Amino acid sequence: ISTVSKESETPRDKLLGGLLTGDFDEGSCFSRYHKSSLYRQPSPYKPSEYLVSKLRSYEVLHKRCGPDTKAYKEATENLVRDENYAEGNSIGECRYIVWIAGYGLGNRMLTIASAFLYALLTERIILVDNRKDVSDILCEPFPGTSWLLPLDFPLMNGTYRFDKGYSRCYGTMLNNHAINSTSIPQHLYLHNLHDSRDEDKMFVCEKDQGLINKVPWLIIQANVYFVPSLWFNPTFRPELMKLFPQKDTVFHLLSRYLFHPTNQVWGMVTRYYHAHLSRADETLGIQIRVFRKNAGYFQHVMDQIVVCTKREKLLPELASQEEPQVNASSITKVKAVLVTSLYPEYSDNLKSMFWERPSSTGEVVEVNQPSGERFQQTDKKLHDQKALAEIYLLSLTDKIVTSARSTFGYVAYSIGGLKPWLLFQPRDLTTPDPPCVRSTSMEPCYLTPPFHGCEADWGKNSGEIFPFVMHCEDLVDDGLKLY
Ligand code: GDP
Repeated sequence: ISTVSKESETPRDKLLGGLLTGDFDEGSCFSRYHKSSLYRQPSPYKPSEYLVSKLRSYEVLHKRCGPDTKAYKEATENLVRDENYAEGNSIGECRYIVWIAGYGLGNRMLTIASAFLYALLTERIILVDNRKDVSDILCEPFPGTSWLLPLDFPLMNGTYRFDKGYSRCYGTMLNNHAINSTSIPQHLYLHNLHDSRDEDKMFVCEKDQGLINKVPWLIIQANVYFVPSLWFNPTFRPELMKLFPQKDTVFHLLSRYLFHPTNQVWGMVTRYYHAHLSRADETLGIQIRVFRKNAGYFQHVMDQIVVCTKREKLLPELASQEEPQVNASSITKVKAVLVTSLYPEYSDNLKSMFWERPSSTGEVVEVNQPSGERFQQTDKKLHDQKALAEIYLLSLTDKIVTSARSTFGYVAYSIGGLKPWLLFQPRDLTTPDPPCVRSTSMEPCYLTPPFHGCEADWGKNSGEIFPFVMHCEDLVDDGLKLY
């Protein structure tokens, strides 16, 4: 059987429909080429030929401009000299976008993918801040070069504070009328965090790109998935349509291209997968994120999980106690439930429920949770490795339930190509009614988009500008997503 399956795995399958380059050595990063074999079904979402060719040209550009090249050396020397230059003067062959690490892993993956798509559209190369542990969790995505920002990068020596008060913060400069379109600075800082103003978020718009496009170095700090806003720019839109004819596949495809867990993380994924998921008839992922002060175990959240999974028929009902015990021959199937949460109590309860009583359908439900770290410890190596392993494990399940507004959940379902059931965020210690909603799209939500797209008319609602951008189902406020 193994020979047959090996032979039927054409190189194109291994390269996920041409999404991946074959130019890497396998052993340095097993997950890159072995990933497809863990998925029961190959992803039905194939990359367009145009995306494939764009990625291959990006790889050439990255090799020419990346660290350790003459172009990079020249560009950083100019950056240090920090002289504005007049429009029309040559700025050198390479332009960069530097991604600064911040917030949890889900936030980081969403923003790297957003910055990368922006780089693809504007012919820049992306370099990622590696003062934290990027290289402990993710392999290099581009062959023959590196995406890690060298540690001696001049603007990362501790003297610069990238926030709204920074003198080269684009939104602040706009507000202070300090932008002069004929004099182009060596670098600008783009601030796209939850506390950003519309001026910051609208850097993707056509009128803003006129200047920004000419700036050799962009430094971006973001914690939101700003991809939906790229569609607001009429110059980007036709290109995006060609890259992603299926609009809700953007993160699914970009994440499969960019994110390859290191061998250590991949070992955690595969061991857990073979121990708990691979032999089940069906798998269900449940990601439980509690956003509140003194987060932990709450009965109303437990009830919400039980009601949602029952109502949506994701888990069977329990048989009434009077019913005779089901015997071994009446077991119809085994369902493995993978719970991820910082708190172990949710899965402990679920596990007891299905151990103490039979299910009404004869299904056996096996519940497991890989870790229960109690609190977020971003930048601690093993903690982040576990987080990434769990994101991947969730992505391997057949069906998935995730928590509203959690980027950890967004990344997991989108990598998996799954439309999740989203658990609404509870208010006032009560179980929301309804407890969850089925998402119409596998795209992550842009939690804090600009209110009116790129329109000058501030009365416009950004969720109503295009038919394929909608408000997110899991939020009461104005998130946006592609579908
Ligand atoms: P968000 O805060 O839910 O949007 O997701 P982030 O991933 O950005 O930040 C949460 C961080 O908390 C994660 O990166 C992990 O470090 C930790 N964390 C939260 N939930 C889990 C979980 O279910 N499993 C593990 N291992 N870590 C988690």
